[in-house]
Amino acid sequence: MRSLIKHHAGPELQFTQRPIPTPGPRDVLIKVKKVGICGTDRHIWEWDQWAASRIPVGIITGHEFVGTIEAVGSAVTKYQPGLRVSAEGHITAWKDFNSRTGNAHIASDTRILGIDRDGCFADYIVVPEENVWPVHPSIPDKVAAVLDPLGNAVHTVMAADVSAKSVLISGTGIIGLMAVTVAKAAGASRIFATDINPPRLELARKLGAIEAYDVRQGDAFINDIKRATRGEGVDVLLEMSGAAPAFDQGFRALRNGGTAAILGIPSKPITWNITEHVVFKGAKVLGINGRRMFETWYQMEELLLSGRLELDDIITHEFPLEDFQKAFKTMISGEGIKVVMNVNS
Ligand code: ZN
Repeated sequence: MRSLIKHHAGPELQFTQRPIPTPGPRDVLIKVKKVGICGTDRHIWEWDQWAASRIPVGIITGHEFVGTIEAVGSAVTKYQPGLRVSAEGHITAWKDFNSRTGNAHIASDTRILGIDRDGCFADYIVVPEENVWPVHPSIPDKVAAVLDPLGNAVHTVMAADVSAKSVLISGTGIIGLMAVTVAKAAGASRIFATDINPPRLELARKLGAIEAYDVRQGDAFINDIKRATRGEGVDVLLEMSGAAPAFDQGFRALRNGGTAAILGIPSKPITWNITEHVVFKGAKVLGINGRRMFETWYQMEELLLSGRLELDDIITHEFPLEDFQKAFKTMISGEGIKVVMNVNS
């Protein structure tokens, strides 16, 4: 089968042929239709410090996909060939404390598709039966290919409980933009957004942010937000930038007793005033990892079926898998937002 692998301990990926994997007794073999390129894939492509420390050379990359079940293992009972599916990319043996107490998304033995084991940038992928997510017939392939990052946005928004609340979304990358439309659909009263990319800020406005601030113009936006929120600050901060200054600015714009949900990952440890931002503020701070299994997936399906999510302007480009060089360059240059590759569609 055609596969996109990390072929050496250095930048870029290589197009190559691999044998079609054989599903174990409790696995399904999925023929991949479409895949999404994630920020994580960009780290793997560029071979930064994180990728070099984590990614095994030779691995098939990619973790966002939709496909059709081609074959099932001998012990699989829930699914049959022909079903259109995506999958939760965090794989656990369901043995540790968190898996057994409803928090499998933070299992201590988590292995991730395209990071710790072969991923979906290939004609076929094998995943455990437990990880399969049947895709509702009214959800198009283009959207079904990006349920993984959309699920990150849904998880963050739902964890922070945004209904009838003012929300600051710090960082309007792929997931930040998804979070704008998700927060709006989930009943956030007023959404503010920050970034350093004017076209993305414009898109955030189009998706439902009432104000979108370019933080390169300084801290004045914090006072604007406070003026708009009774002098207090927003009820909820969704930190999706991973930029060190955004942690300081975001928490300054959060009201006392507010909730912050953090999905953004700083590239290295940062210094940040916990006394001011958490202790005296009485802030509730939530770390967000992956998607709740499978509560987030059900919430995401409901939000998609409501027709209230606007994803057309976020999923900007499609390329055939063979044009992966062009696809990655479109994503890395910022010309594209979410870039999808067609594998068998
Ligand atoms: Zn991803």
